[in-house]
Amino acid sequence: MDSDDEENVQRQYSQMTTFKDKFEVAWDFRARYIDVNRDKINKTVGRSMIWREIGNKEYTTAKNKDYLRKSIEAYTKSIAFAPLGSKELSLAYAKRSAVLFKARLYEDCLLDIERSLKTGYPDKLKTKLFLRQSLCFIALKPSSHIETGISMANAIQSLPNFKKNNSNYNIKDEYSKMINELKEPREIIKFIPEIKNDNAVIVGASDAIELEKTNDNNQHVVATRDIKSGEFIYISEPFAATPSYELRFTNCWHCCRQTWAGIPCDNCSAIIYCSDICKKKAWNSYHNIECLLSEQLWKFDKILPGHLSTVKLFLKTLNLAGGLLELKKKVDNSDSMKNELIFTNGILNVNTIDNFLNLDFFEAISNKCTFEIASFVFFVDTNVDWSTVMLPFSKILKLSCDPNVDWTHVGSNIGYYACKPIKQGQPIVSNRFVTYHTSSKTDRYIVFEKFFGLPESCECTACVENWPTIEDLPSYKYDIADKDQERVKLYDAKIQRVDTAHRPEKS
Ligand SMILES: [Zn+2]
Ligand SMILES: [Zn+2]
Ligand SMILES: [Zn+2]
Repeated sequence: MDSDDEENVQRQYSQMTTFKDKFEVAWDFRARYIDVNRDKINKTVGRSMIWREIGNKEYTTAKNKDYLRKSIEAYTKSIAFAPLGSKELSLAYAKRSAVLFKARLYEDCLLDIERSLKTGYPDKLKTKLFLRQSLCFIALKPSSHIETGISMANAIQSLPNFKKNNSNYNIKDEYSKMINELKEPREIIKFIPEIKNDNAVIVGASDAIELEKTNDNNQHVVATRDIKSGEFIYISEPFAATPSYELRFTNCWHCCRQTWAGIPCDNCSAIIYCSDICKKKAWNSYHNIECLLSEQLWKFDKILPGHLSTVKLFLKTLNLAGGLLELKKKVDNSDSMKNELIFTNGILNVNTIDNFLNLDFFEAISNKCTFEIASFVFFVDTNVDWSTVMLPFSKILKLSCDPNVDWTHVGSNIGYYACKPIKQGQPIVSNRFVTYHTSSKTDRYIVFEKFFGLPESCECTACVENWPTIEDLPSYKYDIADKDQERVKLYDAKIQRVDTAHRPEKS
C-alpha cells in the first residue's frame, strides 16, 4: 500500500459527515482483507503431531542456545493444536514437562505432569513421568518425603507395563543418574509490588494521590504527599490487554504475562492462557464470542494487537451491557454525559463499562474522531514484540510531554509508578504516547493531532519552553553508546509504525 492511497482515503473520510459513511470508509480501508468465510484452523491430531515433532527436533539437536525456549514453544503449539480429549494433548504436556524439568522450572513441570495424567497419558509410558514427578518434589522440597514416595511408588507400579516396550530400562540406574544431575530450581524473581495503603475513593490507587476539582470543573489527580521515584500509586487489571502475534504462544492471551506452561482454549488453537483463572475470566468476559473468530483474525499475521484489543473491548462491553441494543443505549447515554466520572457510593472505579465509555467517548463524527482513531484504535502503548493494554486510569491523569509517572506489567495487572520524585500537591502527569525525550515538539504535535484530535494544544512546560530532545543535547550526541542509539532507533521505528498506516497485503 502506498501513502497516496492512504491520503486519498483520509480525504474521503474527512468529507463524510455521517457515522455510517465514515465507518464505511474506515472499514473498507482497514478491514477489507477480513474474509469470514475462510476455513477455520481447527485443532487436529495432525497439526499437534507436526509441532510435537518440531519440538522433539529442537530439543534433541539442541542446536542454538535458546533451544529450551524454542522446544517449549513448539510443544505449547502442539498442546494448543491438540483436540480436547485426544492422546496428543497428553503427549504434548508430557513432552513439555521434560523440557521444563531440564530448564529447572520444576513447579511448571509438575503442572504439566498433572495435566498429562489427567488428559489420559498412556499407561505403558507412565513410569518416566512418575519418576520425573518424584524428582521435581525432591528438587522443590528436599525434606518432604511423602510426595516423592507416592510418585516413586506409582513409577514402580507402572514399570511392568513400561518394560514391555523398553526391556532394557533399569529404573534404579535411571533414578541415580537423574538424582546426580538434579539441579537447584531456577531462581525466578517474582517481584510483585503492592499498594500498601488503599485509596478511599479511587479503586486500585494508593493513598498517595487524590482527585482534585479544577476551576473548569474537570478533575485531575494530585499527590497528597511527596512520592519517591519507583513508588507504585495504582495497580489494577487493564480494561483489555492483548499480546502481540509473536508472543501468543509464550504469553497469556488475557493478562499478557509470560508463561512457559500455558494452557490452551478448549475450542480454538489460536491462543494460550497463563492459568485457569485467566482462561475463565477471558471466556466470561469476551472469548465466548471471540473464540469463533480469533483464528480468522490471526491468519493475518501482520495484524496488530491494537486491532485485536478493539475486538476484545467491543465484545467485553457487549457482554457487560447484555446485548447490542443495550450497548447502543449506553453509548447514547455517554453522548449526553461526556467526561463525567461516575461514582458509586462515593467510590470511583475507572474500569467499569460506564466510566470507560464516558472517559473515552466522543461522537464518531466529531473532529476529535480522526481517521487514525476511526480506523485504528486508541491505545496507550504498543510494540510489535510486546502487547497492547487499555488503561482507563490514564484518562483521569493530566497529560504532559514530561510525565512523572509511567506504567508496567505487574503480574497479571498493570501498575503506575512515579518515574521521578513528585512533590506534595503536584499533579500526576502521564504522557500522550510520546515524550519530549525522544520526539521533537513538531513530531509530538503530529502524533497529538492524528491520534488525539488535538491541534497544537499541549501546554506542558516541555512544550511551552520548547525543550530539546535527548538526541539534540550536545553531551548526549557525542557520548551516546551504540546500544543507546540502537534503542532510540527502535523507539523511533515504533512511533513510525504507529504513525504510518499498517495493513497486511491482500491475499
Ligand atoms: Zn493470565
Ligand atoms: Zn478459543
Ligand atoms: Zn507537551
